[in-house]
Parts: sequence; structure tokens; C-alpha cells
Amino acid sequence: MSDLASDLESLLSEVIVQPHQKRCSISVVLEQITEEQREKLEVLVAPDCRVASGKVAAVLRNWGFDVGYQSVQRHRRRHVGSGCLCP
Ligand SMILES: [Zn+2]
Repeated sequence: MSDLASDLESLLSEVIVQPHQKRCSISVVLEQITEEQREKLEVLVAPDCRVASGKVAAVLRNWGFDVGYQSVQRHRRRHVGSGCLCP
């Protein structure tokens, strides 16, 4: 049962880490790319953008960034409900 205990323990540590995790993977990408790339990506992750989040994430993954469509959706909903806490 010690394996279950350590699995449960790691779940608990996720809960503790999350509130302090202010930056999502989208903001990490935005920090790493050029000004020109950033302008375009910011439009794509804006709350009113209609481009499918999966397509945005797929392009970023093609370029080596570890981004899921959930990250795009959360970033679009930042400061709203379950959205991310990016500035
Ligand atoms: Zn974000």
C-alpha cells in the first residue's frame, strides 16, 4: 500500500503547487519567441479568437513547444473561472 500512499502524496503536492503557478505553458512560449511571432500568437490565444485551440497547439508542438489544446483554452479564459492566472 505504500505505492498508493506515494501516488496520493504526489496528487496532494500538485494541489499545493498550482496556486503559485502563475504562468501557463502559453506564457512560457510567448516569452521564448520573437516579437513578430508573439504578435501573431497573442491574437491566436486572445479570448475572442475563433481558431480551434487544437490547431494552435498542434503548430506550437510542431515547433517543439510542449503545449496542449487545454493550455490554449485555459489561456483564452485567463482570469475567468478555471482559466489560467497569466498577467
Ligand atoms: Zn496563460
